[in-house]
Amino acid sequence: MKHNVLILGAGGVARVVAHQCARNNDVLGELHLASRTRQKCEALIASVHEKGAMKVPGVFKAHGVDAMSAPAVARLIRRTRAQIVINVASPFVNDAVLVACLRTGAAYLDTAAHEHPDRACEPPPWYANYEWRRRRTCEEQGVTAILGVGFDPGVVNAYVRLAADEYLDTVESIDIVDVNAGSHGRFFATNFDPETNFREFTGPVYSWQQGRWGTNSMFEVQRDWDLPVVGRQKVYLTGHDEVHSLSLRYPRADVRFWMGFSDHYIQVFTVLKNLGLLSEHPVRTAEGLEVVPLKVVKAVLPDPASLAPGYTGKTCIGDRVRGMKNGLQREVFLYNVSDHPTAYASMGSQAIAYTAGIPPVAAAMLIASGAWDVARMVNVEELPPRPFLALLERLGLPTRVKEGSLDGPLPPVKHDYSDRAG
Ligand code: NDP
Repeated sequence: MKHNVLILGAGGVARVVAHQCARNNDVLGELHLASRTRQKCEALIASVHEKGAMKVPGVFKAHGVDAMSAPAVARLIRRTRAQIVINVASPFVNDAVLVACLRTGAAYLDTAAHEHPDRACEPPPWYANYEWRRRRTCEEQGVTAILGVGFDPGVVNAYVRLAADEYLDTVESIDIVDVNAGSHGRFFATNFDPETNFREFTGPVYSWQQGRWGTNSMFEVQRDWDLPVVGRQKVYLTGHDEVHSLSLRYPRADVRFWMGFSDHYIQVFTVLKNLGLLSEHPVRTAEGLEVVPLKVVKAVLPDPASLAPGYTGKTCIGDRVRGMKNGLQREVFLYNVSDHPTAYASMGSQAIAYTAGIPPVAAAMLIASGAWDVARMVNVEELPPRPFLALLERLGLPTRVKEGSLDGPLPPVKHDYSDRAG
């Protein structure tokens, strides 16, 4: 049994992680929240107490830390006696936090692949560029590290594994679809950290097709898909972390990631990019001031966490998985629909942060119970999906499964995962 959790980061996703950990502190033990700005952690913990979210009376403490420093994070892990670290700070800190976990033996969880601050849109193999270099050390030292355990990457990886194990004999294609059909009412905002969000889209789009990496340009490939609940949506081929790990487990399948963008988002993004305002490289102003354009854009845009009050509409994120079953073609769509106002009422967050923040807590609980305490580094598709999906159902992220084509009208629900969870 592992217990005592250190959460790193105090942004929109960390808010959900903090609230959800508090609701399960009987399993997780003492809770600690650390970020660059300690006051943000204090405010977040105060919001947990305001909601009366702690399941049982217990410790929830705020700390300040520079998570780019492995020794500083290791000291904090030792001081808090944390055996599980949930890293939901920016993806620049992953490597340092992973090193700190290796030094202390704490289990490591994150929700996005590591990024080098000066290298936006690095080409694949993404996990092999950073995290997987420490895979052997994790195994030798018996340290559990679960990579990319948000919603996408994360839950969508578990969906692929479930489809491959239980619905198909062979997997021919995996199409992950992420649509936010909600509205925040601002002129322009991103739903999570603008810096991370823009960096995903400023370079070529990578997908795994016909057994190799292919490239397209951003917004080049568009499809209209009829999705459950949110209806017909325009989605665009984009690159994403999980395409890499899934392409290795299912090398014969085409693996693609699609994201919904409004025409307005595309217009604003295109202007910012063409003006050079999405660059991660510093420029010098006439006054001699050195600034990174992308960080300036982040500073003037709304804080994604501030979008939560008044956010309307729903998200739909899922996997269309196609292949053969008993000699016949079969297609299943495994998905979750989340509602912005419900997420706000539950923990003061919008649905993007909600869908990203609940899965790492479910994973932490499975590590605490031993079910996912695997003493090595894994991506989510390497783990048995049922305990995870069943726990997510209980924590507020239900899985649904439909059969039939997204390109045409979908037939009625065939399987409701809640009936099958176990
Ligand atoms: P925010 O930008 O809102 O928050 C990031 C937090 O990281 C901030 O609190 C910031 O600290 C902290 N931070 C940054 N650098 C450091 C540092 N050097 N030391 C300590 N703390 C630091 O991001 P989000 O909450 O929107 O996203 C968090 C993570 O979740 C990101 O990695 C993102 O990519 C990922 N994500 C994953 C999703 C999924 O489904 N897999 C979906 C959405 C997001 P401070 O504020 O104190 O300066």
